[in-house]
Amino acid sequence: MAEDLEPLLGGEGFLDLWNMLPNNISYMPEDLLEWQLSPPEPPQEGEGPGAGVGEGRALPPPPAEPPPPLPPPSAVVPSTEDYGGEHDFRVEFRETGTAKSVTCTYSPALNKLFCRLAKPCPVQVRVGVPPPPGAVLRAVAVYKKSEHVAEVVRRCPHHERAGGGPDGNAPAQHLIRVEGNPQARYQDDETTKRHSVAVPYEPPEVGSECTTVLYNFMCNSSCMGGMNRRPILTILTLEGPGGQILGRRCFEVRVCACPGRDRRHEEETQRKRGGAKRALSPPAETPESSKKPMQDPESEIFLLQVRGRKRYEMFRMVNEALERTYDRGAAPQKSKGRRPRGEGRVPRGKKLLLKAESGESD
Ligand SMILES: [Zn+2]
Repeated sequence: MAEDLEPLLGGEGFLDLWNMLPNNISYMPEDLLEWQLSPPEPPQEGEGPGAGVGEGRALPPPPAEPPPPLPPPSAVVPSTEDYGGEHDFRVEFRETGTAKSVTCTYSPALNKLFCRLAKPCPVQVRVGVPPPPGAVLRAVAVYKKSEHVAEVVRRCPHHERAGGGPDGNAPAQHLIRVEGNPQARYQDDETTKRHSVAVPYEPPEVGSECTTVLYNFMCNSSCMGGMNRRPILTILTLEGPGGQILGRRCFEVRVCACPGRDRRHEEETQRKRGGAKRALSPPAETPESSKKPMQDPESEIFLLQVRGRKRYEMFRMVNEALERTYDRGAAPQKSKGRRPRGEGRVPRGKKLLLKAESGESD
């Protein structure tokens, strides 16, 4: 790892950075998660802005109490909280750009997948620790807004009449299908009536680090009598052989005619609004170009293109570690006057750009 970064940072620069990281970087996602579930006490008086920066090696205090129990698998309103779990379950997407011809493209800044009706959407599944044999990967869709969340997401009457999958496996009313996997099992939950599709978890092939599952979304977001322009989230869960949830990842999905264009537009809109709703930066007018007005330089958000998966993973880990340092003490002015320190202070913000996560706000 050090060898890869060495030419970029120089020996001493890299060591400085490295020494700022918490002790065992490979456990970062888990640490982050625990910390999110149980944020540390707000700093005492006297621990001024930036107090945590110099002592970046210190780990956060252990959670005072165990994390809340997970909801049962068939909760009426499924959880949409990201949860890496003991297996460090994650999903990722290839960067496919926003060209006009693209049929599936994911926006890290929005944590949102844009795709065309019935086109394959490759979702890369990755675990840090292999799940037990018999584990499955389940996908279910829910409406994003609370006023619709109780309603089951299903296809519109028009598309439902078009029928199920070509192999007769997928029910006609299911929005989400898995392409090219005869082991896919479609389920209508007895209690919640929600539709889901599950495939056996397969370990990555030799020489690769993730497993790809191809999902199809079988209605447009605009379909009358179906989603009817209501945004949806897709929840992917890694489940043990007994159905217990081992990990969960969520992302928003928009099924539309021009995924590339719509992604571009929505990302622009977000930038004009002054960054992600949950970003730490204060709302600020941002011109069309990337020339940003001067603002708190520590809050400014940059996009970094990284070549190669391994290097990307390194940068992501470094960024997450730095984010944690930042969130723990270096961004006090952001919360001043808006909410008390320590309340809802979860590590969010710039991290969005590298680590996908979702929320169910608005
Ligand atoms: Zn439809």
